[in-house]
Amino acid sequence: MRLILLGPPGAGKGTQAKMLKEKFRVPQISTGDILRQAVKDDTELGVQAKAFMDSGQLVPDDVVIGLIEERIKQADCETGFILDGFPRTIIQAEKLAETLTEMNIAIDTVVDMEVNAEEVVSRLTGRSTCSDCGVMFHEESRPPKVPGVCDGCGGHLAQRQDDNRETILKRLEVYQESTSPLKEFYKKQGNLKTVAAGGSVEEIFSRVCEMVR
Ligand code: ADP
Ligand code: ZN
Repeated sequence: MRLILLGPPGAGKGTQAKMLKEKFRVPQISTGDILRQAVKDDTELGVQAKAFMDSGQLVPDDVVIGLIEERIKQADCETGFILDGFPRTIIQAEKLAETLTEMNIAIDTVVDMEVNAEEVVSRLTGRSTCSDCGVMFHEESRPPKVPGVCDGCGGHLAQRQDDNRETILKRLEVYQESTSPLKEFYKKQGNLKTVAAGGSVEEIFSRVCEMVR
């Protein structure tokens, strides 16, 4: 299975990618997660990426392309992978296509997760993530039993730097401008499938699974 999850911030790409990874036993590759880890570890990559991320801008193409090329060539990606948050620009998509061709492989399905902007803002402003196990909570739709503490592992719940109203609106704008043209790009290649990304996590998961079978 070689899959791309496309959709605006807050569409639920990360949540679905984690569930798909369990079910289909292929790695989830999230450029956002890789970059956030680099920021946390204060590596050269993290230092380079931080200001872009905090302001809701895209990290430069050559940086993320380099990351992905290295990642998909690793042994655990041989049976497939789920790309979550990459590609995000036409240049990234073209470069990915080139790399896959060189590797003699191809993307099977691009799942476009559709959700309206209002829903995105409310999902993201209320969300927090466990710093230890990565599980996500939401103050309205999935509140933790104890505020600030993960139900599963007791870890500390943190809000992402970029999950504030101003930066969320910027991320949505960047999505519209730079990422949404990818729908047309993949439609032309004939492997774009659109899924309504509203409703419960389980409902969305069963819709996604229908499409990737
Ligand atoms: P979301 O989809 O919720 O906005 P991500 O975790 O996918 O969150 O990405 C967070 C930030 O990381 C982005 O706003 C951007 O700055 C950076 N980033 C992630 N993936 C890419 C990418 N493919 N190209 C450029 N920047 C990226
Ligand atoms: Zn946890």
